[in-house]
Parts: sequence; structure tokens; C-alpha cells
Amino acid sequence: MTASPFRILLVVAVALVDADGRVLLAQRPEGKQLAGLWEFPGGKVEQGERPEETLIRELREEIGIEVKEACLAPLTFASHAYPDFHLLMPLYVCRRWEGMARSMEGQALKWVRPRALKDQPMPPADAPLIPFLVDLLGP
Ligand code: C5P
Repeated sequence: MTASPFRILLVVAVALVDADGRVLLAQRPEGKQLAGLWEFPGGKVEQGERPEETLIRELREEIGIEVKEACLAPLTFASHAYPDFHLLMPLYVCRRWEGMARSMEGQALKWVRPRALKDQPMPPADAPLIPFLVDLLGP
């Protein structure tokens, strides 16, 4: 059997929402694809992992917070054809966590009001998710 050139990448992302209704964005670091763009935090789903487990792991590793699975609600998902792969990316919403959100891997972080999300340079997969968040959270 020959391998298919069509590759699907499953990445999970989260809109962390603070008490003021702002959403956390992380800047993709130099040396990575799409460096400098602001994305919803998350990462690749590893073999045998449930998407929620991925998010809990990534938020611990990258943002230094502890999230309980019951605090994660799926909102929608992105589907985007990049040149080398097709990205499927569920977006979760999380309003409760333990610990202080901070950069654990040197990436820049910022809290953004939902209405200001459209002004941020974002990966093409992330940008179409914004209207869903504005609907949910208000401006
Ligand atoms: O973060 P990582 O580089 O592992 O993600 C793999 C790919 O998924 C990225 O190169 C990027 O093309 C895409 N991605 C995205 N939006 C995100 C996270 C990843 O488009 N929020």
C-alpha cells in the first residue's frame, strides 16, 4: 500500500477567558512556521491522547496553569488547508483554572478583548474562529 500524500494534523486550541472577558493569545516564536503571529494556545494531539488531555498538558507546559477537564467546553473547530497538511483544530473555551497564566517557554502572551481579536495578525486557521468567540463573549 502506498502512503497518502494527504496529511491531516489534529491540533487543539483554547480561548482562555479571564474575569474581564479578555482572551489569551500566544505569539508563535522565531524559527517556527508562522513565527510572529498570535494564536490561541494549544498544540498537537499525540497518539492515544484525548483532545482534552492534550489541552491540559499544553496549558501546564506552556502557560503554567492547571485546568480541570470539566472546565473545558468545545465551541467550534477550524479546518484549514496549509500547503503541507490539512489542519483540523477544535477550539475550546476555558474560564476557570488554577495558577497564574504566564509564559513558560519564552513565548510572548497577551490578553485581548474579543472585539480587538480581528486586529491581531493570526494564522489563517485561527482567524475564522473569532466571530464565534465574539458571539459567545460579546465585544
Ligand atoms: O504549534 P505547532 O507548530 O506544533 O502547530 C503545527 C502547525 O499547526 C503550525 O505550523 C501551524 O501551521 C498550525 N497551527 C495553526 N494555529 C494554531 C496552532 C497551530 O494554524 N493555533
